[in-house]
Amino acid sequence: MNIENKLKISQKAFNTWRTVPFKDKQQLLKTLAKLLDDNAEKFGKIITKEMNKPITQSIAEVKKCATMVSYYAAAENILKPEKIKTEFRISKIHYIPKGVILGVMPWNFPFWQVIRFAVPAILAGNTVVLKHASICFGSGNEIEKIFLEAGFPKGVFQNLEIGHAEVKTVLENPVVRGVSLTGSEKAGAEVASIAGKNIKKSLLELGGSDAFIILDDADFAAAAESGAKSRLMNCGQACNAAKRFIIQKNIEKEFLPIFVKEYQKFVPGNPLKKKTNMAGMARPDLADELEQQYNKALANGAEIILPLVRLSANEFVPGLIKVKSGNPILQEELFGPLGMVMTAKDDKHALQLANEIPFGLSDSVWTKDKKRQHFYIDNLESGTVSINKGTSSDPRLPFGGTKSSGYGTELSLVALKEFVNVKTVVAN
Ligand code: NAP
Repeated sequence: MNIENKLKISQKAFNTWRTVPFKDKQQLLKTLAKLLDDNAEKFGKIITKEMNKPITQSIAEVKKCATMVSYYAAAENILKPEKIKTEFRISKIHYIPKGVILGVMPWNFPFWQVIRFAVPAILAGNTVVLKHASICFGSGNEIEKIFLEAGFPKGVFQNLEIGHAEVKTVLENPVVRGVSLTGSEKAGAEVASIAGKNIKKSLLELGGSDAFIILDDADFAAAAESGAKSRLMNCGQACNAAKRFIIQKNIEKEFLPIFVKEYQKFVPGNPLKKKTNMAGMARPDLADELEQQYNKALANGAEIILPLVRLSANEFVPGLIKVKSGNPILQEELFGPLGMVMTAKDDKHALQLANEIPFGLSDSVWTKDKKRQHFYIDNLESGTVSINKGTSSDPRLPFGGTKSSGYGTELSLVALKEFVNVKTVVAN
């Protein structure tokens, strides 16, 4: 079926879906959550085959989707009309779904990213069309199938199976009223400019280069374990992975060996085997790019702590490099198994290093001192600050970036209001 017809189906579905009560929509979400949970193993295999994620991590991704959908299935209806006290007989806010929303999604979490965007948009009364990453059409089709199986009307969720050159045509179609993109800065800027030209809402979840700050009163063992996991899960291909480890100078000698030991526990293997904790990157060209960035960092003075060793077209033994402020590599995102270590003489210096990058997604700080915790909470320029825990998203809590990491919010109740129009109703 051509795109034009699919968009017509979406628009037709929207005309009825928008009138379905919130509670009834939530009933369907309950079934969707169960289907995700029951089929986690089957969908996990599809994810692993498409982009090489170790199978245990793929299954965990699908299970996490089920948890998120259950959260929205039980969420408070914050979209019901809101009364405002004024001198008028009636004054209210109504939240009106926008219409057909396009999702442009990446390959690194083929189920999670799609469901994370689609579920709150659909619960708010919109319908959704998906342009998934070119290597993830299998995941896109399975997601469309389970929406239908859960009982959602035809056209509420459709997978378009299109290349990125066709995004412009879809977004320019008058029935499409907004776009949510998760991906690179380049794609985000291009898609948001098309949305802007056509006066349509956009939401961008882009890259990051998050700081993981270890201070001298931290629990070293816990920080080392969490830091290595945060950098190397999904072969380092997560937007909110810890990418820069900022260590207080006076503990460098003690902390670094503990951290390196944890880091070396990640060894590339067969992604379909349950004991594998790291596999190859999603595509060989992404591995080429990471290798080029490694060489660029070294050419600009970075020192090797652990070399990045290429084993095959897409597999690496993870690397760790020591980088100083001013190295141009700090302006880029390293989307693979390569971490950066920096040292800071005190809190002020650590904060400066953490903030002096173009991104701001999800920083993590390790200290037991409440005063120091508040200093970082108040001054880090990221969308999330985690204290004494690694960076991971939680369906109940908002997720989004600052600066070049994007704008808009996913997850939590806040996401329900991203693709609605606010209508003011006043009467005497
Ligand atoms: P990508 O190359 O930007 O692709 C993401 C999606 O955008 C894909 O569907 C891609 O389609 C499409 N796309 C690419 N260029 C486009 C263009 N010019 N116009 C319209 N669509 C375009 O990113 P990726 O390599 O898949 O994903 C990695 C990036 O995503 C990293 O930067 C990562 O940090 C970011 N990310 C952010 C979050 C977050 O929540 N903030 C979460 C996950 C990932 P094709 O596959 O057809 O090219």
